[in-house]
Amino acid sequence: MKEMLINGRFTSGHAKEAIQVINPANEEILDEVPRGTVEDVDTAVAAAKAAFDNWRRMPAWERAGLLHEAANKMQAHEEELARLLTEEEGKPFVENEEELFWTYDTFHYYAELARHERGRFLPPGDPDQINFVIKEPFGVVGCIVPWNYPLLLLSWKLAAALAAGNTVVVKPSELTPLATLRLVEVAFDHLPPGVVNVVTGYGPEAGEALVEHPDVPMIAFTGSVETGQRIVRIAGPMMKKLHLELGGKDPMVVAPDVDLDTAVAGVAYAGLINAGQVCTSSERIYVHESLYGQFSEGLADFVGSLRLGNGLDPQIDMGPMIGNRFREKVEGQMAAAVQAGAQVLVGGKRPSALPQGYFLEPAVLVNVNHDMAIMRDETFGPVLPIMPYKTFDEAIQLANDTVFGLGASLMTQDARLVKRFFDDVKAGTIWINDPLTDNFAGPFGGMKMTGGGRELGQEGLDEFYEVKHVHWDVEGKRKEYWYPYGGTEG
Ligand code: NAD
Repeated sequence: MKEMLINGRFTSGHAKEAIQVINPANEEILDEVPRGTVEDVDTAVAAAKAAFDNWRRMPAWERAGLLHEAANKMQAHEEELARLLTEEEGKPFVENEEELFWTYDTFHYYAELARHERGRFLPPGDPDQINFVIKEPFGVVGCIVPWNYPLLLLSWKLAAALAAGNTVVVKPSELTPLATLRLVEVAFDHLPPGVVNVVTGYGPEAGEALVEHPDVPMIAFTGSVETGQRIVRIAGPMMKKLHLELGGKDPMVVAPDVDLDTAVAGVAYAGLINAGQVCTSSERIYVHESLYGQFSEGLADFVGSLRLGNGLDPQIDMGPMIGNRFREKVEGQMAAAVQAGAQVLVGGKRPSALPQGYFLEPAVLVNVNHDMAIMRDETFGPVLPIMPYKTFDEAIQLANDTVFGLGASLMTQDARLVKRFFDDVKAGTIWINDPLTDNFAGPFGGMKMTGGGRELGQEGLDEFYEVKHVHWDVEGKRKEYWYPYGGTEG
């Protein structure tokens, strides 16, 4: 059994039970982790609280050095960590190598960004005044992470939180805690005890204990809308700072001028990377009517050629889904769509050649519409439903017809369409001809029901600071406008 990290020590804490971690590619038990309790969260929060004062006072250059060292250690263990991620999460090894690179690079990036500035100097309201704004850390930040990018999404919170001077208690997903535990073991042994803690366990137990804890003033959460709403209900009345990255239903619009092969390959990647289990997966495809038939057939051929299997096999393109209940949800959405008139051009079945593991053949659907759940609710699986559109106005209206606002993609070389798209589509990230790429210097996050939090960039660092405005009258003279009104003379 792997243990939790609390106050610089690996421990099973108060856990009386273990949680089994399953390899989704073969349904074998990989390992176990403690089912962390409320008491474990209490101990971890107390350790983080005790470590906070020294950590926040540490000069930024010194903290930056420690974070660079952590990043270098992650890089030194890149292959081992990518392998562990592949085993517990399922996506192809090559995608996990990329996840590792982005993970340690996030630590390098925030190490530098946080030593650059910590506030701003203001033009004074009076010649004797000095006015400035200090950005300061919150204290103990609770970071609650989902399973689809366990290390990447951890790093977007953890690196920024630590660089800003906060200490942290992490609650990884119960489905994918192993790479997180190994990462903190290999990369953070040089940090003072208590600065980073990891409590494993279930969301309604360990997760909620963290959300409820009075000594945790900020919760940074990535996960589903339902869990986000639960967190808001608990932490909202406590006036905690909430940083929420929730679900999506991203649109992809294909304009009539595209090169068909390029558009097909781009759409397949945008919808199917990590078996479609990406918050920014293109889950709704809108294709101009002039190429709808050709595009749909081309996409079905291309998707039908993708190879499924264990992510450790370098010959495969797509791994399994994370679990059976997630696969059943996708199958249910497809079945309901077919019942309402949709047609499956390819895929959608459990592959007979892979009886073990939570595999699902990637699917292309046509004859879909916005009355169907598959075009409205998050799918989080390998499905590409395609709808035709007539005018670009209609494409934009369809793209915006959602409660979510995470990302939106467009394929075109027409600059006027590009401008219309980024002006009029309500989403936190707009991708033109380049779906699902990240640039860590820019913010990532959503609008509407996706929650308003931003990660990455200066914006993603600023989320982990609260601001304080200092007014300082250097001369300290009595003011004319103080009592008594009318002046002191006479
Ligand atoms: P989830 O909401 O089920 O779980 C996420 C985390 O929250 C896990 O660690 C879980 O244990 C914990 N949790 C569950 N219930 C809790 C509770 N009551 N209190 C506190 N913590 C609790 O989500 P998931 O299935 O792990 O992840 C998939 C979801 O994450 C999708 O909806 C996806 O869109 C979203 N996601 C969003 C982004 C983004 O940046 N917007 C990125 C990745 C994933």
